[in-house]
Amino acid sequence: MTALVLATRNQGKVAELRRILSGVEVVGLEAFPDAPEVPETEPTFEGNALLKARAIAAHTGLPAVADDSGLCVDALNGMPGVLSARWSGRFGDASGDKDRANLDLLLDQLGDVADPHRGAYFVAAAVLVVPGGPEHVVEGRMYGRVVDAPRGANGFGYDPVFLPDGHDRTTGELGPEEKDAISHRGRAFRALAEIIPGALAAAR
Ligand code: IMP
Repeated sequence: MTALVLATRNQGKVAELRRILSGVEVVGLEAFPDAPEVPETEPTFEGNALLKARAIAAHTGLPAVADDSGLCVDALNGMPGVLSARWSGRFGDASGDKDRANLDLLLDQLGDVADPHRGAYFVAAAVLVVPGGPEHVVEGRMYGRVVDAPRGANGFGYDPVFLPDGHDRTTGELGPEEKDAISHRGRAFRALAEIIPGALAAAR
């Protein structure tokens, strides 16, 4: 069992990666209280994920996985994109209120946009950085549309307003396993899981 650090303090993400990566010991940043906070300053999901994984691999000396994600809305030319967490401004952290403010702003912006033009997709970039070794980057997407009013209390962020293609419930109405099976992050983590055993073996 090789330890892999997931560069997040979000226990939900750690649990999700553990479910997908059976046989590999996954630890989160709570095991490294002195780990640096890494600002997401890059203009791409991949760039931000690499910033976080490189910093945590350097700090811990262990292989590090990081992800970065967001919602890309067709009618907004792909925004909020990497600004998804900060769309309504930089106040506070990613609290429930911040999520609500982001979602309300998005609904306002799409107020005059008719249903056929409300296409959107979630993207997650997931990366593995092995200290002194290669870097691996994968991406997962979930396509759908932005509905005109929030539905459901599950998930976080924009989940209550995102209707995945082929579904009649928003991601805010899906259970965690149902969402994992189709989500951008589930797809990206599963793609990374296929690479990880070989990458860790090569690094030994
Ligand atoms: P991060 O990748 O955890 O930094 O997430 C960036 C932001 O994108 C979040 O704060 C949400 O606003 C949005 N986001 C990313 N993934 C999801 C998701 O699965 N559901 C809802 N919102 C998401």
